[in-house]
Amino acid sequence: MTSKIGLISLGCAKNRVNSEQMLYLLREAGYEIQSGDDAALETYEADAVVVNTCGFIESAKTEAIDTILELAEAKKSGRIKKIIVAGCLAERYKDEILSELPEIDAVLGVGSYSEIVAAVKSALDGKAYAGFGDKNAPEPETKRILSTSQAWAYLKIAEGCDNRCAYCVIPDIRGRFRSRPLENVVQEARELAQRGVRELIVVAQDTTRYGLDLYGKRRLPELLEQLVKINELRWIRLHYLYPHEVDDRLIEVIANNEKILNYLDIPIQHISDTVLRKMGRRGSGAEIRALLKRLREKIPGLVLRTSLITGLPGEGEAEFRELYDFLKEARIERAGVFAYSPEEGTPASLMEYPDHETACQRAEALMALQSDIMDRFNESRIGAVTTVLAEGFDGAHYVGRSFAESPEIDGMIRFTGRDIRPGAFYEVEIKGTYDGEPLGSVKGNPPARK
Ligand code: SF4
Repeated sequence: MTSKIGLISLGCAKNRVNSEQMLYLLREAGYEIQSGDDAALETYEADAVVVNTCGFIESAKTEAIDTILELAEAKKSGRIKKIIVAGCLAERYKDEILSELPEIDAVLGVGSYSEIVAAVKSALDGKAYAGFGDKNAPEPETKRILSTSQAWAYLKIAEGCDNRCAYCVIPDIRGRFRSRPLENVVQEARELAQRGVRELIVVAQDTTRYGLDLYGKRRLPELLEQLVKINELRWIRLHYLYPHEVDDRLIEVIANNEKILNYLDIPIQHISDTVLRKMGRRGSGAEIRALLKRLREKIPGLVLRTSLITGLPGEGEAEFRELYDFLKEARIERAGVFAYSPEEGTPASLMEYPDHETACQRAEALMALQSDIMDRFNESRIGAVTTVLAEGFDGAHYVGRSFAESPEIDGMIRFTGRDIRPGAFYEVEIKGTYDGEPLGSVKGNPPARK
């Protein structure tokens, strides 16, 4: 009787890729696999469930622990037999996790994803398993079972980070920055495109650093020039660009290649020089402003995404006001706003910083401003025709995304049409908004092309 293994993937896109690799290894080992997000917990029936955890800030840790405890309840009820915990929470708390969560049967750090089959086998045999391989070693090149959609996928080009921003534990959890060999990345992109993927989302902790460790020079532009040559690929989306490292060569490659979307995710975290310096971020507020101006000049119709943290050490009323006014002036179309979460082991947690309530109030103020900016942006699209990758039907409308919506973070476009096929592209005329998101209808003929 084949054992059934469930997998729940928490956290970021990089972790999701590791989850997809573990699914592949489990299936190749002959297990019946099932991936589902934590919503499926109530109904999960499996011999073992793997939770690939996140653990870089308080809220992520809480979500991971809640998920493990819910699985422990399912174990008590007999719906599942074994719990395997992998990923960042396991890595960060490797010494405490088994003693503090005895419900766990096996644990894998971020350097041991490739041991998933051994861990599951041990657990099912009733033996404990703990794998904490070298988190600084190159990640094994492993195939994946996509858990996103068949039309889009993440392309992880590197793991780890060397930037050491003062508030961040990721370098301590995920290890030093390791680029994947360029030919391996391109080969994976080709294989994904042959399997029907039309949109690739390029991710790493810092994509602009790609190549520096392996080749002694930044090779993201070159990698992109290779990816755009893959015929079946329609869209290439860039995430996690470190502002200080976005240079003219990279801008030129983005501006001159239609497949590279006019959508750039550039986490700036803050704009005040006092805060940027205290956090060990390279570059200044003036430099960030100049970069955004240059990008908007060079890439017409550009949609920017960023992430901002309020309540960091060094942020007084004046510094927050500067951040607020900057966002108002820069009109960044997409922004994730977070209240600072002091993390033990980081230099910033030993510094003075605003109380949590103040940090949350400031985050709410920024989010209210951002929601207004987004509404204005959506209104500005009414009457325009945009290419939409169809993703499904929500019972009332077809849903999909254009260049301006990255999956899982930017919402969807709702539209009407006939015989809409998920994974195909359609020209959609935006006619209004629905629930704060664009609403439109397919313009003219059936799909432009798959
Ligand atoms: S760039 Fe900074 S914030 Fe991002 S993962 Fe690296 S250290 Fe953390």
